[in-house]
Formats: sequence, C-alpha cells, structure tokens
Amino acid sequence: MDSKTLYARAQQLMPGGVNSPLRACRYVNSEPVFIDRAAGAYLWDVEGRQYIDYVLSWGPMLLGHCDPEVAEAVYVAVNKGTSYGAPCEGEVSLAEEITKLIPSMEMMRMVSSGTEATMSALRLARGYTGRDKVVKFIGNYHGHNDAFLAAAGSAAQAVPGTPGVPDDIVKHTLLAHYNDLEAVKAHFKESGDEIACVIVEPAAGNMGLVLPEDGFLQGLRDLCTKHGALLIFDEVITGFRVSLGGAQQRYGITPDLTTLGKIIGGGFPVGCYGGKKEIMEHMAPCGGVFQAGTLSGNPVAMAAGLATLKVLQKRDYDALEARTREFATALTGILKDKGQAVTLNHIASAFTIYFSEVPVTNMAESSACNGDLYATFWKQMQAQGINLAPAGFECAFTSFVHTDEDLEKTLEAARNVTF
Ligand SMILES: *Cc1c(COP(=O)(O)O)cnc(C)c1O
Repeated sequence: MDSKTLYARAQQLMPGGVNSPLRACRYVNSEPVFIDRAAGAYLWDVEGRQYIDYVLSWGPMLLGHCDPEVAEAVYVAVNKGTSYGAPCEGEVSLAEEITKLIPSMEMMRMVSSGTEATMSALRLARGYTGRDKVVKFIGNYHGHNDAFLAAAGSAAQAVPGTPGVPDDIVKHTLLAHYNDLEAVKAHFKESGDEIACVIVEPAAGNMGLVLPEDGFLQGLRDLCTKHGALLIFDEVITGFRVSLGGAQQRYGITPDLTTLGKIIGGGFPVGCYGGKKEIMEHMAPCGGVFQAGTLSGNPVAMAAGLATLKVLQKRDYDALEARTREFATALTGILKDKGQAVTLNHIASAFTIYFSEVPVTNMAESSACNGDLYATFWKQMQAQGINLAPAGFECAFTSFVHTDEDLEKTLEAARNVTF
C-alpha cells in the first residue's frame, strides 16, 4: 500500500481525506503520508520510510511513541475491559497525580478531548459567575467550540468568519492581541461586570510558539481578581511540557481553572478541566452546571495517562530544555547562514523558527511570516526523513527519547536544504 492510493480513497470518504484539517498538508502544498507505525522518536509511513518526528501527535508524545511502561499499563488495562460507564480506580489515581503536580486543580473532571475541556470550563465559568462574556486572545486556539472560533489560531485561522458559528454566540467573545494587556483592560473597563472569564494559552502554541511577555499573565490575574472574573489557563499544550506543573508553575501565576489535554492522555483521547473546589462543585451532580460523557474517565485512557505522568516524573526536564535550546539555536543558525531572515521562539521542549525579520510576539507578527519559505523548507526536510509540522504557525516538539544522533541528523538535513 502507498500513501497516494490511500489518500485517493480517503478523499472519497472524508473532507480533504482527513479527520483533522492540518493533516492534509495544504499549507505546505503537499499531500499527507499515511503512517503505519511509530516507536520512540520515529514514524514509519506505509511505504516503509522512516521519519524523525518533531510533531509527536501535535504534542502528546513527550515520552516518545510507544513508551514501554505506558504500553504495559495499556495492555494490562485492556485485558480488564475497555469501558465500564461506572467509576474506576484509574480515574482517582490519575486525578490524585494531577492535583499533586498542579495544586491549583483541587478538583477536576475528566473528558475526552481538549475541546471538551475548554468548552466545559467556559460553561462552568459562565454558570459560576452568572455572566456571559469571555475574553480570548487572537491566535490562541482552544479547540473548536463556537465561542472560541473567533480569531482562533492553528488550522482555524484558515476559516475567516468561521461559517456555522452564529453571530449571537461570538458576540459574547471579546478579542485582544496576545501580550496586549491594555486591550484587556479596555474590555474590563467597558464591560467588567459582564465578563465571566479570560481564557489564555499561558505560553501560546497555536500561532507558532509565542511566549508571554513579563507582566502579561500577572496583569491578567490582577484584572480577573479585581473584576470577579475567572482566569482560565488553557494548558492543553503547556501542561506537563513546559514543566511538570505546567506554565502556571513555571511563571508562578495561579489560575482559577485549568484545562488539560494532549500529554495527559499519553496518546489516548483525554482532556481534563479543574480548579478551585468551590468553583468545581458548581458542576452536576453537586451543582447545576451540566456536563457528561459516555467515555469520560475511560479505564484504558486513564491507565495510559497515569503511566505517562509517573514516567515523566523520572525524566530530566532541565536537560531536555538545554538540549532543545542548543538544537533549535543550531537549526536557526543554519537557516541564517543560508541568508534567510529567521527568528526563534523557544521554551522547554517546544520551539518555532519563524521566517520573519522581526520578533514574533502575537498573531499579527506570526501571520506576516513567509509561508512559502516554510513550505520549501518543510518539503526538503520531509524528503530527508524529518517530520516537521505541515504549517509554519505550529510548534516543533522534542521528546525525551530524541538522541543526539537524531538531532545531528536533523541539522545535517537542514544543511542540505536550498532556497
Ligand atoms: C490542541 C489544543 C486544544 C484542543 O484539544 P483537542 O484534543 O484537539 O480537542 C485546546 N487548546 C489548546 C491550547 C490546544 O493546543
């Protein structure tokens, strides 16, 4: 079987041949390769070609693919049945592990995706405050719930005006540029007593990696506290990646609610939202805010998540960050030596190299980057067995299993690229 044939079949059955838009590789003027298997830092496509993977399922696989301890936990769980529709020990154990690592999540609820986590957190914030409005940052992506599909990042930016989302719903979404505290202040001044919450990616990963400037997150914290609005950190990417305690630990800011996804499921569909007990107890069956899920707290997914968090606590985050910084800096240097204007944003095991002459601190600057140059780079890297995100406005991720040899091979491939 080859990717071309599979893609032709897929296009008959799924819009664009894919189940999530970016996978179609349209931003890099290419077609997707179909993956047959993955292990460690590598993917193999259906034609047997091997790739060093810097997408890592868009974030979840921080331990690399098929970590032996996670796989073992999954095998054990599968053999005990795959879904009960009733409580199981894995839910409690995973929740205990999460609250230990992220103490602001005193109480939480498991769901099946990041989208579900942010959607439910927003409903809770609205139910808790009795207010409707939400402040959201342009270029931040919080999944595909209606309220957040106003100036969203990631693949959603391709859909101007987002057909299918009623104006009546997005009229409650107030927008601001990332890192622009003054704009948020203005929203609070204008409609402070109507704002239920501010939702933010505490380090943004869906317009490429964009870091919060000094004082930005603290400013949001102060404004929310002052006006009785909830601060929601969407840590679906940053949770367990920028530190074991997420961005809130790294930056020392405590949100009211946190949303998790990606890494927390160890490669299975898991999301989670949580925060202060007093707020979380507004959820049914304790309170009136409703949310439910047939597969929520799924025993196999809980086992994968728990094993992932346990193994992560044995890994050296500082060492991975230092290696990633050195690697990303070298990669940036190679592109500069080829005469390209590039700028690097990096934190922990995530980075983005932008084809841009100026630093990138928000969506406007991210959108201004040269997508054609990225496509040129991407195609030649892919042809040499390097899997980067098929769009310039996404993060590259390293894992704990990328070896020095993998990184060196990647740099060697970059040296061969011509523009
Ligand atoms: C990926 C992502 C989501 C959505 O998660 P899904 O599991 O894809 O629904 C939400 N927020 C952020 C910050 C994300 O990166």
